Amino acid sequence: MQECKKCKITIRGNKKCCPLCQGRLSGEPEYPAFPVIKRLPLTTDAVFRIALFLAVLAEITLGMICFVNGRWIHGIGIAMTVIVFGLADLMVALYFRGNLIKLITVETYIIMGALNYVNILIAGYMWAYAWVIPMMFIALMVTTLILARVGGLVLRDIMMYLIFDVIMGTLQVIPIRKGLNPNPWPAAISIALLFAIAAFVIIFRFNDLKTASAKYLNI
Ligand SMILES: [Zn+2]
Repeated sequence: MQECKKCKITIRGNKKCCPLCQGRLSGEPEYPAFPVIKRLPLTTDAVFRIALFLAVLAEITLGMICFVNGRWIHGIGIAMTVIVFGLADLMVALYFRGNLIKLITVETYIIMGALNYVNILIAGYMWAYAWVIPMMFIALMVTTLILARVGGLVLRDIMMYLIFDVIMGTLQVIPIRKGLNPNPWPAAISIALLFAIAAFVIIFRFNDLKTASAKYLNI
């Protein structure tokens, strides 16, 4: 019989920890009091195969509609692209599910890319460059810093994300220079914020930067 010394209780069966305090149990575990029913675990591989199959079914259906219709339908083309995109995104989510900061970073860039693409498809006012992408950069930085704080990470651990975000954020000057951004202020402010973070890191946390680059780049 197992017992928890702290709660002064004995436990039948085989438990990993005390049901009251989650603390360690002493004593010998017994056979479980009730039969254990093994649930088939839904593995990552199974989830992906199911999603892939559904996506292929959807693509076949859309393709068939286009075929019977006799000509290419613009909206269906977009839908088919979105399905491929969603599937790739699911792959990314499953792959990075163990690392929240990495997952959010990768997802943010994928969504930015998608919004950029959708905006170009729709044409007209370039809201992606003007508002959405700059806001997403700021949100990404804030989220990264908060998650690092919550997860007990130090600046060194998230340095590579910060550097990458600064580099990617700076690319926003391209649409501004090309005159594609109808309202350059949000983008300019988000770039300035990224630069400010970079300046802070270089001036106050140079050692963190050095260790991080040594770790990742082997220099
Ligand atoms: Zn206990």
